Amino acid sequence: MATEKACKKCKIIVHGKQCPICKGQELTTNWRGLAIILSPDKSEIAKQIGIEIPGEYALKVR
Ligand SMILES: [Zn+2]
Repeated sequence: MATEKACKKCKIIVHGKQCPICKGQELTTNWRGLAIILSPDKSEIAKQIGIEIPGEYALKVR
C-alpha cells in the first residue's frame, strides 16, 4: 500500500502537503506504478504521461 501521495493533476509524487508543480493540494494515495523521470525530453514514458519536469511520477492516478 502506498503511503506517498501523488498529485491528481500532475501525477508527481508529493513529499509534503502541496504539489511542487501546480501548488495544488488535491493529493491521493490511490496511485499505481512509479516512474522516475530524469530527462523528460528523452523519456517515452514522460511523453506518454505528458511530463515536462523531472521528478518521481505515478503512472496511474485515480
Ligand atoms: Zn499538481
